[in-house]
Amino acid sequence: MNKTKIFKYQLLKWSKKNTRKYSWRNSNDPWKILLLEIIAQQTQLDRANIYYEKFIKRFPTPKEMSKATKKEILSLWSGLGYNSRALRLLETSKILSKKPFNSIYPNFEVLPGVGKYTKNALLSFAYKDKVIAQDTNVVRIFSRFFGIKNPENFIKKNEKIILKNIESRKFNQILMDFGSKICISKNPQCEICVLEPNCNKFFQDTKYIQQTFKGSNREIRGKIIKYLIDNENVQISTLVKQLEIEDSKIKPIIKKLADEGMVNIKNKKLIEISS
Ligand code: SF4
Repeated sequence: MNKTKIFKYQLLKWSKKNTRKYSWRNSNDPWKILLLEIIAQQTQLDRANIYYEKFIKRFPTPKEMSKATKKEILSLWSGLGYNSRALRLLETSKILSKKPFNSIYPNFEVLPGVGKYTKNALLSFAYKDKVIAQDTNVVRIFSRFFGIKNPENFIKKNEKIILKNIESRKFNQILMDFGSKICISKNPQCEICVLEPNCNKFFQDTKYIQQTFKGSNREIRGKIIKYLIDNENVQISTLVKQLEIEDSKIKPIIKKLADEGMVNIKNKKLIEISS
């Protein structure tokens, strides 16, 4: 058996006892898939799933979400971080309420916040297209197992062979689970890995330094939005005082939030989430 076949069959075997179950995994509704994928960016799947369930209950279709206010979306999103994703989701729902998914298939990258990975996830999960959705986890697995520095082209070239006689959604879900349970970023579980005997174990120097969250601009942005969700008629001076963050640090962040359309500033004094 060649290496590609071993890769495929060993992962299929592994998945029989190791696949996580989520309601959206059996759905081919593109809205559900898009919602989950946007929520799951930079968020662990179990946590993303909790938010997904809240969102889908409140907004079962893009049309329902398109009528929501930014404040309502940000309030439901609260705790997930990266609030700009929530606003892109709202923007996307407005587009989709006028132009349904089928009318833009397969060019989903025209939607705000939809990159290559999310596009392929939609094509695979909602439309059964034979594509592998390449996120960092998937690229890492291929890179290590096949010993390739940049496996993107390799995946593209081999995806039809790998996905032959198998639903792409199934294989993409397996890769997702395998990348988060076994071939994980920092401590790959090679001792218990079914691919181990054939794996090149190509470990690149991929140390990724993330900005410490505590005290970061991202944390301050989150605190500002949370405060504005919980309070009405907020004066900038009150906000600065309540959050106890130096003027020189918080003011540029407020300005950036205003430039991005996340907040409105009235008469240079009052601040609120933009409508
Ligand atoms: S043997 Fe290790 S590096 Fe290779 S696929 Fe398994 S977990 Fe990843």
